[in-house]
Amino acid sequence: TAVGEITAAQVDSLVGHMPMCMRNLHTALRKNKHLKYGGREQYSLFLKGIGLSIEEALIFWRSSFSLITDDKFNKEYRYNIRHKYALEGARKDYKPMSCQTIILGNPPGAGDAHGCPFRHFSIDNLVAGLGSMGIHDQRQLNDIKQLVGAQKYHVACTKVFEYTHPQLGDGGLKESISHPNMYFEQGFEMAKN
Ligand code: SF4
Repeated sequence: TAVGEITAAQVDSLVGHMPMCMRNLHTALRKNKHLKYGGREQYSLFLKGIGLSIEEALIFWRSSFSLITDDKFNKEYRYNIRHKYALEGARKDYKPMSCQTIILGNPPGAGDAHGCPFRHFSIDNLVAGLGSMGIHDQRQLNDIKQLVGAQKYHVACTKVFEYTHPQLGDGGLKESISHPNMYFEQGFEMAKN
Protein backbone atom coordinates (compact mmCIF):
# COMPACT_ATOMS: atom_id res chain seq x y z
CA THR A 1 0.00 0.00 0.00
CA ALA A 2 0.96 3.63 -0.29
CA VAL A 3 1.00 3.92 3.45
CA GLY A 4 2.87 0.81 4.50
CA GLU A 5 1.96 -1.09 7.64
CA ILE A 6 -0.30 0.75 10.02
CA THR A 7 -1.20 -0.20 13.58
CA ALA A 8 -4.59 -0.38 15.26
CA ALA A 9 -3.60 2.61 17.37
CA GLN A 10 -2.95 4.76 14.30
CA VAL A 11 -6.39 4.39 12.73
CA ASP A 12 -7.98 7.33 14.59
CA SER A 13 -5.24 9.65 13.41
CA LEU A 14 -5.84 8.66 9.76
CA VAL A 15 -9.57 9.40 9.65
CA GLY A 16 -8.89 12.88 8.27
CA HIS A 17 -7.68 11.29 5.02
CA MET A 18 -10.67 9.00 4.61
CA PRO A 19 -13.60 9.56 2.24
CA MET A 20 -16.97 10.31 3.75
CA CYS A 21 -18.19 6.70 3.58
CA MET A 22 -15.33 5.50 5.77
CA ARG A 23 -15.47 8.47 8.14
CA ASN A 24 -19.12 7.66 8.66
CA LEU A 25 -18.29 4.04 9.47
CA HIS A 26 -15.50 5.07 11.83
CA THR A 27 -17.74 7.55 13.63
CA ALA A 28 -20.50 4.95 13.98
CA LEU A 29 -18.00 2.41 15.29
CA ARG A 30 -16.66 4.80 17.93
CA LYS A 31 -20.15 5.92 18.92
CA ASN A 32 -21.83 2.51 19.12
CA LYS A 33 -18.74 0.42 19.91
CA HIS A 34 -20.12 -1.86 17.26
CA LEU A 35 -20.79 -2.02 13.52
CA LYS A 36 -23.40 -4.17 11.87
CA TYR A 37 -22.45 -6.72 9.21
CA GLY A 38 -22.45 -4.46 6.13
CA GLY A 39 -20.34 -1.88 7.93
CA ARG A 40 -17.82 -4.44 9.12
CA GLU A 41 -17.48 -5.78 5.57
CA GLN A 42 -16.94 -2.36 4.05
CA TYR A 43 -14.67 -0.90 6.71
CA SER A 44 -12.50 -3.92 7.47
CA LEU A 45 -11.54 -4.40 3.81
CA PHE A 46 -10.79 -0.71 3.47
CA LEU A 47 -8.52 -0.84 6.53
CA LYS A 48 -6.83 -3.93 5.17
CA GLY A 49 -6.24 -1.96 1.96
CA ILE A 50 -4.58 0.93 3.76
CA GLY A 51 -2.17 -1.42 5.50
CA LEU A 52 -3.71 -2.90 8.64
CA SER A 53 -2.25 -6.40 9.07
CA ILE A 54 -4.35 -9.29 10.36
CA GLU A 55 -2.72 -9.05 13.81
CA GLU A 56 -3.47 -5.34 14.00
CA ALA A 57 -6.97 -5.83 12.56
CA LEU A 58 -7.81 -8.26 15.36
CA ILE A 59 -6.51 -5.74 17.93
CA PHE A 60 -8.45 -2.93 16.26
CA TRP A 61 -11.79 -4.74 16.13
CA ARG A 62 -11.42 -6.39 19.55
CA SER A 63 -10.70 -3.05 21.24
CA SER A 64 -13.34 -1.18 19.20
CA PHE A 65 -16.11 -3.62 20.19
CA SER A 66 -15.49 -2.68 23.79
CA LEU A 67 -18.92 -3.62 25.18
CA ILE A 68 -18.58 -7.36 24.54
CA THR A 69 -16.54 -10.12 26.17
CA ASP A 70 -13.51 -11.79 24.61
CA ASP A 71 -15.55 -14.95 24.41
CA LYS A 72 -18.30 -13.33 22.34
CA PHE A 73 -15.74 -11.59 20.17
CA ASN A 74 -13.89 -14.81 19.47
CA LYS A 75 -17.11 -16.71 18.70
CA GLU A 76 -18.86 -14.15 16.56
CA TYR A 77 -16.32 -11.89 14.93
CA ARG A 78 -12.82 -13.33 14.92
CA TYR A 79 -13.45 -15.87 12.16
CA ASN A 80 -14.92 -13.29 9.87
CA ILE A 81 -12.00 -10.92 10.26
CA ARG A 82 -9.51 -13.72 9.61
CA HIS A 83 -11.63 -14.72 6.63
CA LYS A 84 -11.05 -11.28 5.07
CA TYR A 85 -7.34 -11.97 5.23
CA ALA A 86 -7.72 -15.35 3.52
CA LEU A 87 -6.92 -17.24 6.73
CA GLU A 88 -10.27 -19.05 6.95
CA GLY A 89 -12.86 -20.61 4.67
CA ALA A 90 -12.15 -20.46 0.94
CA ARG A 91 -8.93 -18.51 1.65
CA LYS A 92 -9.85 -16.00 -0.97
CA ASP A 93 -7.91 -12.76 -0.68
CA TYR A 94 -10.74 -10.23 -0.58
CA LYS A 95 -10.11 -6.84 -2.12
CA PRO A 96 -11.39 -3.57 -0.68
CA MET A 97 -14.72 -2.55 -2.23
CA SER A 98 -14.79 -0.03 -5.07
CA CYS A 99 -17.18 2.92 -5.15
CA GLN A 100 -19.28 1.11 -7.72
CA THR A 101 -19.63 -1.95 -5.50
CA ILE A 102 -20.60 0.23 -2.54
CA ILE A 103 -22.97 2.45 -4.52
CA LEU A 104 -24.76 -0.46 -6.20
CA GLY A 105 -24.62 -2.77 -3.18
CA ASN A 106 -27.23 -3.47 -0.53
CA PRO A 107 -28.55 -0.12 0.70
CA PRO A 108 -28.13 0.49 4.45
CA GLY A 109 -31.15 -0.30 6.62
CA ALA A 110 -31.96 1.00 10.12
CA GLY A 111 -28.85 0.97 12.30
CA ASP A 112 -26.52 0.31 9.37
CA ALA A 113 -23.61 2.63 8.62
CA HIS A 114 -22.35 1.15 5.35
CA GLY A 115 -22.96 2.49 1.87
CA CYS A 116 -22.01 5.70 0.07
CA PRO A 117 -23.25 8.91 1.72
CA PHE A 118 -23.70 10.55 -1.70
CA ARG A 119 -25.97 7.72 -2.76
CA HIS A 120 -27.62 6.72 0.51
CA PHE A 121 -27.83 9.76 2.81
CA SER A 122 -30.72 12.20 2.88
CA ILE A 123 -29.68 15.64 1.62
CA ASP A 124 -29.79 16.98 5.21
CA ASN A 125 -27.45 14.26 6.47
CA LEU A 126 -25.18 14.72 3.50
CA VAL A 127 -24.94 18.47 4.13
CA ALA A 128 -24.19 17.77 7.82
CA GLY A 129 -21.48 15.30 6.78
CA LEU A 130 -19.99 17.83 4.37
CA GLY A 131 -20.03 20.43 7.15
CA SER A 132 -18.07 18.08 9.40
CA MET A 133 -15.45 17.91 6.62
CA GLY A 134 -15.26 21.70 6.54
CA ILE A 135 -17.45 22.32 3.49
CA HIS A 136 -19.84 25.19 4.24
CA ASP A 137 -19.55 27.29 1.10
CA GLN A 138 -22.96 27.60 -0.54
CA ARG A 139 -21.63 27.40 -4.07
CA GLN A 140 -19.69 24.24 -3.27
CA LEU A 141 -22.70 22.70 -1.51
CA ASN A 142 -24.87 23.50 -4.53
CA ASP A 143 -22.37 21.89 -6.91
CA ILE A 144 -22.35 18.74 -4.82
CA LYS A 145 -26.14 18.63 -4.52
CA GLN A 146 -26.46 19.04 -8.27
CA LEU A 147 -24.10 16.13 -8.95
CA VAL A 148 -25.97 13.97 -6.45
CA GLY A 149 -29.24 14.91 -8.13
CA ALA A 150 -27.74 13.78 -11.44
CA GLN A 151 -26.69 10.49 -9.75
CA LYS A 152 -22.99 11.30 -10.30
CA TYR A 153 -22.08 10.16 -6.82
CA HIS A 154 -18.38 9.50 -7.29
CA VAL A 155 -18.00 12.81 -9.15
CA ALA A 156 -19.56 14.53 -6.12
CA CYS A 157 -17.04 12.71 -3.93
CA THR A 158 -14.23 13.85 -6.22
CA LYS A 159 -15.40 17.45 -5.77
CA VAL A 160 -15.26 16.96 -2.01
CA PHE A 161 -11.70 15.76 -2.31
CA GLU A 162 -10.83 18.82 -4.40
CA TYR A 163 -12.58 21.27 -2.09
CA THR A 164 -10.77 19.83 0.91
CA HIS A 165 -7.39 19.82 -0.88
CA PRO A 166 -7.22 23.36 -2.30
CA GLN A 167 -3.49 22.94 -2.92
CA LEU A 168 -4.52 20.91 -5.99
CA GLY A 169 -5.36 24.20 -7.71
CA ASP A 170 -7.90 24.78 -10.48
CA GLY A 171 -7.05 21.67 -12.45
CA GLY A 172 -8.23 19.41 -9.63
CA LEU A 173 -7.61 15.68 -9.65
CA LYS A 174 -6.44 14.12 -12.90
CA GLU A 175 -8.78 11.19 -12.48
CA SER A 176 -12.07 11.09 -10.62
CA ILE A 177 -12.40 9.03 -7.46
CA SER A 178 -13.53 5.48 -8.16
CA HIS A 179 -12.30 3.75 -5.03
CA PRO A 180 -12.30 4.72 -1.34
CA ASN A 181 -8.69 3.50 -1.04
CA MET A 182 -7.72 5.75 -3.95
CA TYR A 183 -9.25 8.71 -2.12
CA PHE A 184 -7.30 7.83 1.00
CA GLU A 185 -3.99 7.21 -0.71
CA GLN A 186 -4.08 10.41 -2.75
CA GLY A 187 -4.77 12.50 0.33
CA PHE A 188 -2.19 10.68 2.38
CA GLU A 189 0.47 11.18 -0.29
CA MET A 190 -0.34 14.87 -0.59
CA ALA A 191 0.01 15.36 3.16
CA LYS A 192 3.45 13.78 3.04
CA ASN A 193 4.75 16.11 0.33
FE1 SF4 B 1 -16.96 6.33 -0.52
FE2 SF4 B 1 -16.75 6.13 -3.18
FE3 SF4 B 1 -18.98 7.09 -2.04
FE4 SF4 B 1 -16.74 8.50 -2.05
S1 SF4 B 1 -17.96 7.89 -3.87
S2 SF4 B 1 -18.11 8.23 -0.31
S3 SF4 B 1 -15.21 6.92 -1.78
S4 SF4 B 1 -18.20 5.01 -1.87
